[in-house]
Amino acid sequence: MRRLRAKKPDLVSLVRSWGGVSLVYRKRLQDSPAYRLNHEEVQKALEEGINFVELMSPTEAVPDEYGAVKALKFEAVNYDAETGKFTNSGEIHEFPARTVCVAAGTSPNVIYEKEKPGTFQLDEWRQFFKPFKVERNGDGKLHVAEAAKGEPAFFTSYERDGRFISYYGDNHPQYAGNVVKAMASAKHGYSKVVELFADELAERGSLPQAERDSIFDKLVATLDEQLRAYVVKVVRLTPTIVDVIVKAPLQARKFDPGQFYRLQNFETQAPVVDGTRLMMEGLALTGAWVDEEAWLLSMIVLEMGTSSRLCSLLKEG
Ligand SMILES: Cc1cc2nc3c(=O)[nH]c(=O)nc-3n(C[C@H](O)[C@H](O)[C@H](O)COP(=O)(O)OP(=O)(O)OC[C@H]3O[C@@H](n4cnc5c(N)ncnc54)[C@H](O)[C@@H]3O)c2cc1C
Repeated sequence: MRRLRAKKPDLVSLVRSWGGVSLVYRKRLQDSPAYRLNHEEVQKALEEGINFVELMSPTEAVPDEYGAVKALKFEAVNYDAETGKFTNSGEIHEFPARTVCVAAGTSPNVIYEKEKPGTFQLDEWRQFFKPFKVERNGDGKLHVAEAAKGEPAFFTSYERDGRFISYYGDNHPQYAGNVVKAMASAKHGYSKVVELFADELAERGSLPQAERDSIFDKLVATLDEQLRAYVVKVVRLTPTIVDVIVKAPLQARKFDPGQFYRLQNFETQAPVVDGTRLMMEGLALTGAWVDEEAWLLSMIVLEMGTSSRLCSLLKEG
């Protein structure tokens, strides 16, 4: 017994005798966010006996006679060191697999440019917004100027009537990937936004503090009024359908048919019945009608599940 207890379990050999665990990746190990952002993830995985298979792109899950996965097919990927591009080779490899976990990646949100082409310039891969800085040039006004490669820059190419759009975090090529970088992007970028208001700051710097506070309070009040949504009325249309009408000024004015919203109650305001707080899951609801003058937006709810049934309990305000 003592001898058995002293012996360390050899889990790696055991797992490998069962077929092992392989991490199959479309790119090279050194391209993976795990390696680039936190190489210890890779180190620990290798210590635990996980195989790393590089340059393989998944093409097919092969089912057994019961419909459960028995293998995965991959197409080998070629890496071109000169261009840094990856291309499919056409060469298919099959790996036996009983349990398959898919790690879904993320991509920057450039959907606005896809919906309204020509609004923003994208980078050479059409993946991220192209980085620009904002400078005062010959006419004494602020304008966007393309940033040099690697130069910290926080603006998109958008420029209209002296207005610009900055971007950070996962949307920014130098800061995408994790929460720490997202926070760093805001820390590094906010001063560039402040610089745009140098004239206003110089002018207002001499105002008494109370007056400056009141300017700020007005801005906050405008943002609250325009951006926040409040329930105005819940109208029962049929025994199983209600119309939730919200006041959402900016959204009501910008509404286009087909747009939909996420509706959910606040935990602190949800009714409590027999000690259970009646929380709603987020409901996806299509806008039914808008009143642009009164800033109203309506969403029709079919009471089919718990969350949709809770809509009739929503209170004004
Ligand atoms: C599954 C998963 C696990 C992760 N795990 C980790 C981890 O363990 N550690 C770590 O550091 N990072 C992790 N990350 C990465 C991390 O979540 C992101 O890098 C980080 O949240 C990026 O911050 P962000 O502010 O740039 O974007 P986000 O946090 O995505 O914020 C963008 C916000 O903008 C909103 N938005 C989008 N479009 C519009 C619009 N048109 N109008 C108004 N609002 C809009 C979105 O709803 C969202 O709330 C993980 C990511 C995922 C997906």
